[in-house]
Amino acid sequence: MKNFAYFRPTTPEQAVALLEARWGNTEMLAGGTDLLTLQKQYIAQPARVVSLNAIGGLKTIAVGERSASIGAGVTLATISSHADLRRLFPALTMAASEIGGPQIRNMGTLGGNLCQRNRCWYFRDEHSPCLLRGGNSCSAIEGENKYHAIFTQNHRCVIASPSTLATGLIALGASAEVLGPQNRRRNVELAKFYTAPVGPNDREHSLAANELVTSVTIPVRGLNSAAYEVRQRQASDWPIVQVAVAFSGGRNGEKATGVRIVLGQVSPTPLLSETAARALEGRPINEANATAAGRAAVEGAKPLGQNGYKIRLVEVAVKRALMLAAGLPRYWEA
Ligand SMILES: Cc1cc2nc3c(=O)[nH]c(=O)nc-3n(C[C@H](O)[C@H](O)[C@H](O)COP(=O)(O)OP(=O)(O)OC[C@H]3O[C@@H](n4cnc5c(N)ncnc54)[C@H](O)[C@@H]3O)c2cc1C
Repeated sequence: MKNFAYFRPTTPEQAVALLEARWGNTEMLAGGTDLLTLQKQYIAQPARVVSLNAIGGLKTIAVGERSASIGAGVTLATISSHADLRRLFPALTMAASEIGGPQIRNMGTLGGNLCQRNRCWYFRDEHSPCLLRGGNSCSAIEGENKYHAIFTQNHRCVIASPSTLATGLIALGASAEVLGPQNRRRNVELAKFYTAPVGPNDREHSLAANELVTSVTIPVRGLNSAAYEVRQRQASDWPIVQVAVAFSGGRNGEKATGVRIVLGQVSPTPLLSETAARALEGRPINEANATAAGRAAVEGAKPLGQNGYKIRLVEVAVKRALMLAAGLPRYWEA
């Protein structure tokens, strides 16, 4: 690991003042479960590291009648076990409780999870050509791509979006509070937070290099929601496919409205599937309708050489996430 200068500010404003306008030379450190790995692999080589861990204000959760706010420094373990969050936002807490293992959940934070780098093995191998590290082309498009995107249209880099909290938060209509230089604050819908990167000066999200996520706000709307993942291993791994859903009504024969179905690990950004939502809008959630929504979700997929198998996984994950959110029997556990 390259040597670096370490800063430990105590307010978000001090942290922002230590950041630089360009990515690379200065990095923010939260739980370090992603950043330290990247540094050890020489993928990130910051000369300056700004720790967020002494900023008390980033570690609070406030649940009100209309919205809940979760500080960017709150750990995944706290999110997954928080009684009010579990009651109001199952799509978020179900995803948080599945992440990594206890060590990752105890160290990893909300902000770090949303801003983590992608898991592409070419990106994470300093010896492999990679667009995101200044190469001319994406090695995964013609190479080893079984864990990569299946919605690949117009994408020159075919990473799969890694954050499993992002999908749940997008389904729930959450937004990020962002602080930048000169105390500039903005609120970004998480559905618009992610971007598909194509070069070394891009990240997987739309933050500027001198901006910081301070918290995430989720509206309290009484939605039914859930997340479902397909994993190779239950612990210490990312899912191969993940889906989060949210809707009003939909249970006991009632029509579902405001349906949001978000697919993870299938495209460079989390994918809000309008075709799947349309297939279900105004209909009750039952096994047949959930199956139809799963089929609609994969319309337009263009898998790569090795990942066509993900199509069937998406269909099934959408169906099961909808059935979980509607409180229907888990036929797959029988
Ligand atoms: C074995 C293993 C399994 C995993 N499984 C999953 C999984 O199933 N699903 C999943 O989603 N993730 C998974 N992860 C990833 C894990 O959730 C992330 O590594 C963790 O959430 C990152 O949080 P952190 O606080 O440690 O971030 P750090 O490593 O400290 O930071 C990560 C990145 O986010 C930036 N950052 C941190 N905080 C902020 C902020 N407030 N504002 C702006 N930028 C910020 C940092 O600069 C850095 O670039 C897994 C990780 C491991 C090691």
